Amino acid sequence: MTTESQSTQTAAGQPAEGNAAPTIQIPRVLTVKELGELMSLSPVEVIKDLMKNGVMATINQNIDYDTAAIVAHDLGFEPKEAAVEEVAEEAPEPPKGVAAEEEEDASALKPRPPVVAVLGHVDHGKTSLLDAIRKTDVVSGEAGGITQHIGAYQVETKGQRISFLDTPGHAAFTAMRARGAQVTDLAVVVIAADDGIMPQTKEAIDHARAAGIPIVVAITKIDLESANPDRVKQQLAGLDLNVEEYGGDVICVPVSAKTGDGLDTLLENILVAAEVLELRANPDRAARGTVIEAEMDRNRGPLATVLVETGTLRVGDVVVVGKTWGRTKAMFDEHGQRIKSVGPGEPAAVLGLQEVPQAGDVLTVVSNDKTARKIVVQLQREAEAAAVHVQPHVTLDTLFGAISAGKVKELNLILKTDVQGSIEPIRQSLERLSNDEVRVKIIHAASGAVTESDVMLAIASEGMVIAFNASEEPGAERLVQQSGIEIRHFSVIYHITEDVEKALQGMLDPVYIDVIKGKAEVRQVFQMKRKGQVAGCYVTEGTIAIDDLAHLFRGEEMIADTKVTSLRRFQEEVREVQVGTECGFTLEGVKDFQEGDLVEFYRRKRER
Ligand code: GDP
Repeated sequence: MTTESQSTQTAAGQPAEGNAAPTIQIPRVLTVKELGELMSLSPVEVIKDLMKNGVMATINQNIDYDTAAIVAHDLGFEPKEAAVEEVAEEAPEPPKGVAAEEEEDASALKPRPPVVAVLGHVDHGKTSLLDAIRKTDVVSGEAGGITQHIGAYQVETKGQRISFLDTPGHAAFTAMRARGAQVTDLAVVVIAADDGIMPQTKEAIDHARAAGIPIVVAITKIDLESANPDRVKQQLAGLDLNVEEYGGDVICVPVSAKTGDGLDTLLENILVAAEVLELRANPDRAARGTVIEAEMDRNRGPLATVLVETGTLRVGDVVVVGKTWGRTKAMFDEHGQRIKSVGPGEPAAVLGLQEVPQAGDVLTVVSNDKTARKIVVQLQREAEAAAVHVQPHVTLDTLFGAISAGKVKELNLILKTDVQGSIEPIRQSLERLSNDEVRVKIIHAASGAVTESDVMLAIASEGMVIAFNASEEPGAERLVQQSGIEIRHFSVIYHITEDVEKALQGMLDPVYIDVIKGKAEVRQVFQMKRKGQVAGCYVTEGTIAIDDLAHLFRGEEMIADTKVTSLRRFQEEVREVQVGTECGFTLEGVKDFQEGDLVEFYRRKRER
């Protein structure tokens, strides 16, 4: 490794900013208007910047510190937290998923069925496999009823149950993860025996790996004459998924959805892989689960399929789900049969909610209606602030700070390149940058444009996208706008490693762009005793504020690049003047204003 350990150690490794940004103290919560005032900027500037970060806000909307800090930073300020002592002891988020079980008494924990997602390339047979597996279920054969798509189903094999998520593909899988819901325990990656590993197969593998869940490979369509499972195994080895024949322990099962061959073996192997995970939960407690699908049923009202993670959900339970609540009126399994209760690792369609929740919403059982209502009101209030919460995602510029604060131990990168041949050299040179504090990890690399799925993976993995001569698909761009995930574009390989290395050491020079805020025309020049020359002006566009920077133009020529040193309206010192008004100002170092001079007022905005 070539980094100079010295520079990674010193606190003085903060970005060397050529133009020191003015510091502002921001409280934990403040309104858009108040933030504007802190920066002597119009609230419109704040709203515009929030919009740029994918957030729509009104002038009186409350925003939290993190969001305000991003806006302040964007507008050229150095944000500081005003009330530091309160922030340290923030209550943690309600526990989610398996982690919550740590607090449980070990003796209360019982094995639960694994939750499995089926991923793979389009047309490789995911849906067919899910259908075929469903048909193997003896219990469902007996149950009768019409099979319904509720988003998940269960099969029983050798007396043990497995829950399958019924929406195949890694897009749905990673979208749930991006929303903070980690419901899947294991991924089955489907590869058609006649087609082999394709781009989306790789993507599926990378998405499963990024989620940190084990992979079971199903080589499907083995009934076809053109099937070549050995080639698939060989290709898998190339992706570091070594099956037994290649000296590894990756489970790989040849199957046919058409003939049913291998399905039992696949299910058995899923159970074996799940056993290693020792999935346990306490069924004897109030339930908590995750919504995996929800819709408005025309006849029955809001209907949500919930996958229970812990506890047992019963008919009659009062639940809070996302931002809504309800009393479970009835529950159904995937055969449309009414069920009275549903335990850990099991799905059920739930009726009785006040509104339709969203996929990824957490369900919790509470003691009564009153509590539920109270929580929901509180959640709705928080949601209002959260709606304008800009997630401070990791970017190359914030990376060093995040590493220093111990928040980032791995830099998860998604690499997209124009040609396949660029991937390996870039991957190697980037991974070589790993040091003691942080590991640089390429979690997915492929050639082609940056897709929505790439951005989703970056969100779910707290990572960022490196695009080497690669464009962005519109869907990706939209998601970037909403999420604040960084896509960094490069056209020279050397620049990628150089920038990432600098970012790791906190030495990335920021790049600023000038944002014009207002314009004024000099109509009169006054000579003041102490202040020197004051320009009497008319504001022709936007606003002018006391700490703006300014370009002074005479005709076409810019004769000064300076800053405002005083601003008056009539005799009053003011912080800001608006378009259509007259004012007087002085500019640092300018002693020879002339009538007809034009002044452009601007802020220096940090671009990166
Ligand atoms: P998905 O896009 O991955 O969900 O793929 P589908 O399940 O829709 O299957 C794509 C095509 O492959 C369909 O025409 C299926 O009939 C066919 N197919 C899927 N599994 C098998 C199989 O095991 N054997 C054969 N012969 N065809 C299959």
